[in-house]
Amino acid sequence: MFDMRRSALGGFRELEGRHAVVMGGAGFLGSHVCTWLVYSGARVTCIDNLITGNAANVTHLMGDKKFRLIDYDVTDFLHVEGDVDYVMNFASPASPVDYLKWPIHTLKVGAFGTHKGLGLAMSKDAVFFLASTSEVYGDPLVNPQPETYWGNVNPIGPRGVYDEAKRFAEALTLAYQREHGVDTRIVRIFNTYGPKMRPNDGRAIPAFFKAALQDKPLPVFGDGSQTRSLCYVDDQVEGILRLLLSEETSPVNIGNPEEISMLELAETVQDVVGNHPGIEFHPIPVDDPKVRRPDTTKAEEVLGWKAQISLREGLEKTTPWFREVLGA
Ligand code: NAD
Repeated sequence: MFDMRRSALGGFRELEGRHAVVMGGAGFLGSHVCTWLVYSGARVTCIDNLITGNAANVTHLMGDKKFRLIDYDVTDFLHVEGDVDYVMNFASPASPVDYLKWPIHTLKVGAFGTHKGLGLAMSKDAVFFLASTSEVYGDPLVNPQPETYWGNVNPIGPRGVYDEAKRFAEALTLAYQREHGVDTRIVRIFNTYGPKMRPNDGRAIPAFFKAALQDKPLPVFGDGSQTRSLCYVDDQVEGILRLLLSEETSPVNIGNPEEISMLELAETVQDVVGNHPGIEFHPIPVDDPKVRRPDTTKAEEVLGWKAQISLREGLEKTTPWFREVLGA
Protein backbone atom coordinates (compact mmCIF):
# COMPACT_ATOMS: atom_id res chain seq x y z
CA MET A 1 0.00 0.00 0.00
CA PHE A 2 1.11 3.55 -0.71
CA ASP A 3 0.84 5.89 2.25
CA MET A 4 -2.56 7.50 1.89
CA ARG A 5 -1.74 11.19 2.17
CA ARG A 6 0.86 12.97 0.13
CA SER A 7 1.14 16.65 -0.36
CA ALA A 8 0.68 18.20 -3.79
CA LEU A 9 3.93 19.99 -3.15
CA GLY A 10 6.42 17.43 -4.35
CA GLY A 11 4.46 14.26 -3.61
CA PHE A 12 5.24 12.22 -6.72
CA ARG A 13 9.03 12.02 -7.03
CA GLU A 14 8.63 9.41 -9.79
CA LEU A 15 7.55 12.29 -12.04
CA GLU A 16 10.72 14.33 -11.64
CA GLY A 17 12.31 15.17 -15.00
CA ARG A 18 9.41 13.65 -16.97
CA HIS A 19 7.62 15.58 -19.72
CA ALA A 20 3.82 15.57 -19.68
CA VAL A 21 1.55 17.08 -22.34
CA VAL A 22 -1.73 18.04 -20.66
CA MET A 23 -4.57 18.65 -23.12
CA GLY A 24 -7.22 20.85 -21.51
CA GLY A 25 -4.73 21.77 -18.77
CA ALA A 26 -6.09 25.29 -18.20
CA GLY A 27 -9.49 24.02 -17.03
CA PHE A 28 -10.60 23.28 -13.49
CA LEU A 29 -9.19 19.76 -13.11
CA GLY A 30 -6.41 20.07 -15.69
CA SER A 31 -4.94 23.10 -13.90
CA HIS A 32 -4.72 21.14 -10.64
CA VAL A 33 -3.08 18.25 -12.50
CA CYS A 34 -0.56 20.66 -14.11
CA THR A 35 0.20 22.11 -10.67
CA TRP A 36 0.84 18.71 -9.07
CA LEU A 37 2.98 17.65 -12.04
CA VAL A 38 5.14 20.79 -11.96
CA TYR A 39 5.51 20.67 -8.15
CA SER A 40 6.51 17.02 -8.50
CA GLY A 41 9.38 18.10 -10.80
CA ALA A 42 7.85 17.26 -14.19
CA ARG A 43 7.97 19.47 -17.28
CA VAL A 44 4.47 20.32 -18.50
CA THR A 45 3.23 21.45 -21.89
CA CYS A 46 -0.35 22.55 -21.35
CA ILE A 47 -2.41 22.75 -24.54
CA ASP A 48 -5.78 24.45 -24.25
CA ASN A 49 -7.98 26.55 -26.53
CA LEU A 50 -9.55 28.21 -23.45
CA ILE A 51 -13.11 27.49 -24.60
CA THR A 52 -14.15 26.74 -21.00
CA GLY A 53 -10.73 27.08 -19.35
CA ASN A 54 -8.86 30.16 -18.28
CA ALA A 55 -5.16 31.07 -18.43
CA ALA A 56 -5.62 32.57 -14.95
CA ASN A 57 -5.93 29.00 -13.62
CA VAL A 58 -2.25 28.41 -14.40
CA THR A 59 -0.72 31.89 -13.93
CA HIS A 60 1.00 30.65 -10.74
CA LEU A 61 3.00 28.27 -12.99
CA MET A 62 3.89 30.78 -15.72
CA GLY A 63 7.17 31.90 -14.15
CA ASP A 64 8.39 28.30 -13.87
CA LYS A 65 10.67 27.13 -16.70
CA LYS A 66 9.13 23.68 -16.44
CA PHE A 67 5.72 24.96 -17.56
CA ARG A 68 4.35 26.39 -20.79
CA LEU A 69 0.83 27.08 -21.98
CA ILE A 70 -0.05 26.79 -25.66
CA ASP A 71 -3.36 28.23 -26.86
CA TYR A 72 -4.42 25.62 -29.41
CA ASP A 73 -7.40 23.50 -30.43
CA VAL A 74 -6.51 19.83 -29.90
CA THR A 75 -8.93 18.69 -32.58
CA ASP A 76 -6.33 20.02 -35.07
CA PHE A 77 -3.05 18.29 -35.96
CA LEU A 78 -1.04 17.93 -32.76
CA HIS A 79 2.74 18.04 -32.66
CA VAL A 80 5.08 18.67 -29.74
CA GLU A 81 8.87 18.94 -30.08
CA GLY A 82 11.19 16.54 -28.26
CA ASP A 83 10.59 13.62 -25.93
CA VAL A 84 7.21 13.16 -24.28
CA ASP A 85 6.54 10.68 -21.47
CA TYR A 86 2.83 11.25 -20.88
CA VAL A 87 -0.05 12.61 -22.95
CA MET A 88 -3.00 13.37 -20.67
CA ASN A 89 -6.33 14.31 -22.23
CA PHE A 90 -8.60 16.50 -20.08
CA ALA A 91 -9.88 18.57 -23.03
CA SER A 92 -13.66 18.66 -23.17
CA PRO A 93 -16.48 20.91 -22.06
CA ALA A 94 -17.51 19.13 -18.86
CA SER A 95 -20.52 20.80 -17.30
CA PRO A 96 -24.01 20.28 -18.76
CA VAL A 97 -24.34 24.02 -19.41
CA ASP A 98 -21.13 23.94 -21.48
CA TYR A 99 -21.72 20.78 -23.46
CA LEU A 100 -25.32 21.71 -24.23
CA LYS A 101 -24.03 25.07 -25.54
CA TRP A 102 -21.30 23.37 -27.66
CA PRO A 103 -22.74 19.94 -28.53
CA ILE A 104 -20.81 19.48 -31.78
CA HIS A 105 -17.54 20.69 -30.30
CA THR A 106 -18.03 18.27 -27.39
CA LEU A 107 -18.38 15.35 -29.78
CA LYS A 108 -15.44 16.58 -31.85
CA VAL A 109 -13.06 17.03 -28.94
CA GLY A 110 -14.00 13.64 -27.47
CA ALA A 111 -13.41 11.97 -30.82
CA PHE A 112 -10.82 13.98 -32.82
CA GLY A 113 -9.05 15.43 -29.76
CA THR A 114 -8.61 11.95 -28.28
CA HIS A 115 -7.49 10.68 -31.71
CA LYS A 116 -4.84 13.43 -31.98
CA GLY A 117 -3.66 12.76 -28.42
CA LEU A 118 -3.36 9.04 -29.08
CA GLY A 119 -1.43 9.74 -32.29
CA LEU A 120 0.98 11.98 -30.37
CA ALA A 121 1.43 9.35 -27.64
CA MET A 122 2.06 6.65 -30.26
CA SER A 123 4.65 8.76 -32.11
CA LYS A 124 6.51 9.54 -28.84
CA ASP A 125 6.13 6.08 -27.26
CA ALA A 126 4.41 7.88 -24.37
CA VAL A 127 1.68 6.76 -21.97
CA PHE A 128 -1.74 8.04 -23.04
CA PHE A 129 -4.07 8.99 -20.18
CA LEU A 130 -7.78 9.61 -20.83
CA ALA A 131 -9.98 11.62 -18.46
CA SER A 132 -13.27 9.76 -18.90
CA THR A 133 -16.33 10.18 -16.74
CA SER A 134 -18.93 8.49 -14.61
CA GLU A 135 -21.36 9.73 -17.29
CA VAL A 136 -20.40 6.65 -19.34
CA TYR A 137 -22.76 4.87 -16.88
CA GLY A 138 -25.61 7.22 -17.89
CA ASP A 139 -28.71 6.92 -15.69
CA PRO A 140 -27.41 3.76 -13.98
CA LEU A 141 -29.52 0.74 -13.17
CA VAL A 142 -27.00 -0.46 -10.58
CA ASN A 143 -25.77 1.52 -7.59
CA PRO A 144 -22.90 1.89 -6.78
CA GLN A 145 -21.35 1.63 -10.24
CA PRO A 146 -18.41 -0.77 -10.69
CA GLU A 147 -16.14 -0.50 -13.77
CA THR A 148 -17.73 -3.70 -15.11
CA TYR A 149 -21.13 -1.98 -15.50
CA TRP A 150 -21.81 -1.08 -19.15
CA GLY A 151 -24.13 1.80 -18.45
CA ASN A 152 -27.57 3.07 -19.42
CA VAL A 153 -27.04 5.96 -21.84
CA ASN A 154 -29.56 7.62 -24.14
CA PRO A 155 -27.44 8.27 -27.26
CA ILE A 156 -29.90 10.72 -28.82
CA GLY A 157 -30.85 12.76 -25.75
CA PRO A 158 -29.22 16.16 -25.19
CA ARG A 159 -26.65 14.71 -22.74
CA GLY A 160 -25.71 12.02 -25.27
CA VAL A 161 -23.17 14.38 -26.89
CA TYR A 162 -20.99 14.22 -23.77
CA ASP A 163 -21.70 10.65 -22.66
CA GLU A 164 -21.21 9.15 -26.11
CA ALA A 165 -18.11 11.27 -26.85
CA LYS A 166 -16.51 9.81 -23.72
CA ARG A 167 -17.67 6.29 -24.53
CA PHE A 168 -16.18 6.67 -28.02
CA ALA A 169 -12.97 8.10 -26.51
CA GLU A 170 -12.66 5.04 -24.25
CA ALA A 171 -13.27 2.69 -27.21
CA LEU A 172 -10.67 4.55 -29.32
CA THR A 173 -8.14 4.44 -26.49
CA LEU A 174 -8.56 0.69 -26.12
CA ALA A 175 -8.36 0.28 -29.92
CA TYR A 176 -4.96 2.06 -29.96
CA GLN A 177 -3.83 -0.15 -27.11
CA ARG A 178 -4.88 -3.34 -28.90
CA GLU A 179 -3.91 -2.43 -32.46
CA HIS A 180 -0.80 -0.27 -31.91
CA GLY A 181 0.33 -1.34 -28.43
CA VAL A 182 -0.02 2.18 -26.99
CA ASP A 183 0.31 2.12 -23.20
CA THR A 184 -2.97 3.60 -21.97
CA ARG A 185 -4.78 4.59 -18.77
CA ILE A 186 -8.46 5.50 -18.39
CA VAL A 187 -9.88 7.22 -15.33
CA ARG A 188 -13.64 7.43 -14.87
CA ILE A 189 -13.96 10.63 -12.88
CA PHE A 190 -16.98 11.02 -10.61
CA ASN A 191 -18.22 14.54 -9.76
CA THR A 192 -15.28 16.53 -8.48
CA TYR A 193 -15.26 20.01 -6.99
CA GLY A 194 -12.90 22.53 -5.46
CA PRO A 195 -11.10 25.82 -6.04
CA LYS A 196 -10.84 27.00 -9.69
CA MET A 197 -14.40 25.99 -10.58
CA ARG A 198 -16.28 28.73 -12.41
CA PRO A 199 -19.24 30.06 -10.42
CA ASN A 200 -21.38 30.04 -13.58
CA ASP A 201 -20.45 26.65 -14.98
CA GLY A 202 -23.89 25.29 -14.11
CA ARG A 203 -22.77 22.40 -11.91
CA ALA A 204 -24.51 21.99 -8.55
CA ILE A 205 -21.69 23.00 -6.21
CA PRO A 206 -20.81 26.32 -7.93
CA ALA A 207 -24.51 27.12 -8.34
CA PHE A 208 -25.18 26.44 -4.65
CA PHE A 209 -22.16 28.43 -3.45
CA LYS A 210 -23.05 31.33 -5.71
CA ALA A 211 -26.63 31.46 -4.49
CA ALA A 212 -25.74 31.03 -0.80
CA LEU A 213 -23.04 33.72 -0.97
CA GLN A 214 -25.29 36.12 -2.87
CA ASP A 215 -28.21 35.51 -0.51
CA LYS A 216 -30.45 33.98 -3.19
CA PRO A 217 -32.42 30.71 -2.97
CA LEU A 218 -30.35 27.67 -4.00
CA PRO A 219 -31.55 26.17 -7.33
CA VAL A 220 -32.43 22.47 -6.91
CA PHE A 221 -33.65 20.38 -9.86
CA GLY A 222 -36.74 18.19 -9.45
CA ASP A 223 -37.54 17.34 -5.83
CA GLY A 224 -33.82 17.14 -4.99
CA SER A 225 -33.97 13.41 -4.15
CA GLN A 226 -31.47 12.51 -6.93
CA THR A 227 -28.08 11.59 -5.47
CA ARG A 228 -24.47 12.45 -6.30
CA SER A 229 -21.14 11.53 -4.76
CA LEU A 230 -18.72 14.40 -4.61
CA CYS A 231 -14.96 14.18 -4.54
CA TYR A 232 -12.65 16.97 -3.39
CA VAL A 233 -10.14 17.90 -6.10
CA ASP A 234 -6.98 16.98 -4.13
CA ASP A 235 -8.27 13.43 -3.62
CA GLN A 236 -9.15 13.24 -7.32
CA VAL A 237 -5.74 14.42 -8.54
CA GLU A 238 -3.95 12.05 -6.21
CA GLY A 239 -5.98 9.16 -7.65
CA ILE A 240 -5.28 10.36 -11.20
CA LEU A 241 -1.51 10.51 -10.66
CA ARG A 242 -1.42 7.15 -8.92
CA LEU A 243 -3.24 5.68 -11.91
CA LEU A 244 -0.85 7.40 -14.33
CA LEU A 245 2.12 5.84 -12.52
CA SER A 246 0.49 2.40 -12.26
CA GLU A 247 0.35 -0.27 -14.94
CA GLU A 248 -3.44 -0.52 -14.92
CA THR A 249 -4.63 -0.29 -18.51
CA SER A 250 -8.38 -0.79 -18.01
CA PRO A 251 -10.73 1.93 -16.65
CA VAL A 252 -10.62 2.83 -12.95
CA ASN A 253 -13.29 4.79 -11.06
CA ILE A 254 -11.97 7.68 -8.99
CA GLY A 255 -14.52 9.37 -6.78
CA ASN A 256 -15.79 9.71 -3.25
CA PRO A 257 -18.45 7.09 -2.40
CA GLU A 258 -20.15 9.37 0.18
CA GLU A 259 -23.59 9.61 -1.52
CA ILE A 260 -25.86 12.56 -0.82
CA SER A 261 -29.15 13.86 -2.22
CA MET A 262 -29.13 17.24 -3.96
CA LEU A 263 -31.43 18.59 -1.29
CA GLU A 264 -29.03 17.52 1.48
CA LEU A 265 -26.14 19.01 -0.50
CA ALA A 266 -27.95 22.36 -0.77
CA GLU A 267 -28.53 22.30 2.97
CA THR A 268 -24.90 21.41 3.71
CA VAL A 269 -23.58 24.26 1.50
CA GLN A 270 -25.83 26.71 3.35
CA ASP A 271 -24.49 25.43 6.69
CA VAL A 272 -20.86 25.67 5.55
CA VAL A 273 -21.30 29.18 4.12
CA GLY A 274 -23.28 30.20 7.22
CA ASN A 275 -26.18 31.66 5.26
CA HIS A 276 -29.60 30.06 4.71
CA PRO A 277 -31.49 31.83 1.90
CA GLY A 278 -33.57 28.65 1.23
CA ILE A 279 -34.25 26.43 -1.78
CA GLU A 280 -35.94 27.11 -5.13
CA PHE A 281 -37.12 24.06 -7.11
CA HIS A 282 -36.59 23.92 -10.91
CA PRO A 283 -37.73 21.38 -13.55
CA ILE A 284 -35.45 18.35 -13.73
CA PRO A 285 -33.25 18.28 -16.88
CA VAL A 286 -33.78 15.55 -19.49
CA ASP A 287 -31.97 12.26 -18.63
CA ASP A 288 -30.62 13.65 -15.35
CA PRO A 289 -29.20 10.57 -13.55
CA LYS A 290 -31.24 9.58 -10.49
CA VAL A 291 -28.31 8.09 -8.60
CA ARG A 292 -24.54 8.32 -8.85
CA ARG A 293 -22.02 6.59 -6.60
CA PRO A 294 -18.65 5.06 -7.45
CA ASP A 295 -17.64 1.58 -6.49
CA THR A 296 -13.98 2.30 -5.72
CA THR A 297 -12.92 -1.24 -4.78
CA LYS A 298 -10.65 -1.41 -7.83
CA ALA A 299 -8.90 1.89 -7.04
CA GLU A 300 -8.35 0.69 -3.47
CA GLU A 301 -6.97 -2.68 -4.58
CA VAL A 302 -4.90 -1.59 -7.57
CA LEU A 303 -3.79 1.93 -6.59
CA GLY A 304 -4.03 1.83 -2.79
CA TRP A 305 -6.23 4.90 -3.21
CA LYS A 306 -9.33 5.92 -1.31
CA ALA A 307 -10.89 9.38 -0.93
CA GLN A 308 -9.74 10.92 2.35
CA ILE A 309 -11.52 14.27 2.46
CA SER A 310 -15.10 14.31 3.72
CA LEU A 311 -17.73 16.36 1.92
CA ARG A 312 -17.98 18.91 4.71
CA GLU A 313 -14.18 19.31 4.89
CA GLY A 314 -13.96 19.71 1.11
CA LEU A 315 -16.75 22.28 1.07
CA GLU A 316 -14.97 24.22 3.81
CA LYS A 317 -11.74 24.19 1.77
CA THR A 318 -13.69 25.40 -1.29
CA THR A 319 -15.54 28.27 0.40
CA PRO A 320 -12.66 30.83 0.30
CA TRP A 321 -12.34 30.33 -3.47
CA PHE A 322 -15.98 31.14 -4.15
CA ARG A 323 -15.87 34.06 -1.72
CA GLU A 324 -12.87 35.42 -3.65
CA VAL A 325 -14.22 35.01 -7.21
CA LEU A 326 -17.64 36.29 -6.26
CA GLY A 327 -16.24 39.16 -4.23
CA ALA A 328 -18.45 37.96 -1.38
P1 NAD B 1 -13.20 22.36 -17.71
O1 NAD B 1 -14.21 22.80 -18.70
O2 NAD B 1 -12.83 23.30 -16.62
O3 NAD B 1 -11.87 21.91 -18.44
C1 NAD B 1 -11.83 21.44 -19.77
C2 NAD B 1 -10.69 22.15 -20.48
O4 NAD B 1 -10.60 21.64 -21.82
C3 NAD B 1 -10.91 23.65 -20.58
O5 NAD B 1 -9.75 24.34 -20.15
C4 NAD B 1 -11.17 23.88 -22.07
O6 NAD B 1 -10.78 25.16 -22.50
C5 NAD B 1 -10.36 22.75 -22.68
N1 NAD B 1 -10.77 22.39 -24.04
C6 NAD B 1 -12.03 22.06 -24.47
N2 NAD B 1 -12.01 21.82 -25.79
C7 NAD B 1 -10.72 21.98 -26.20
C8 NAD B 1 -10.07 21.89 -27.46
N3 NAD B 1 -10.73 21.55 -28.58
N4 NAD B 1 -8.73 22.14 -27.52
C9 NAD B 1 -8.04 22.47 -26.40
N5 NAD B 1 -8.61 22.59 -25.18
C10 NAD B 1 -9.94 22.34 -25.09
O7 NAD B 1 -13.75 20.99 -17.10
P2 NAD B 1 -13.15 20.06 -15.94
O8 NAD B 1 -14.18 19.88 -14.93
O9 NAD B 1 -11.82 20.52 -15.57
O10 NAD B 1 -13.02 18.68 -16.71
C11 NAD B 1 -11.79 18.24 -17.25
C12 NAD B 1 -11.94 16.84 -17.83
O11 NAD B 1 -12.34 15.94 -16.78
C13 NAD B 1 -13.00 16.76 -18.91
O12 NAD B 1 -12.54 15.89 -19.93
C14 NAD B 1 -14.18 16.15 -18.21
O13 NAD B 1 -14.96 15.39 -19.08
C15 NAD B 1 -13.52 15.27 -17.15
N6 NAD B 1 -14.43 15.09 -16.01
C16 NAD B 1 -14.57 16.08 -15.08
C17 NAD B 1 -15.43 15.87 -14.02
C18 NAD B 1 -15.61 16.89 -12.92
O14 NAD B 1 -16.37 16.64 -11.98
N7 NAD B 1 -14.94 18.02 -12.93
C19 NAD B 1 -16.18 14.68 -13.92
C20 NAD B 1 -16.00 13.73 -14.91
C21 NAD B 1 -15.13 13.94 -15.94
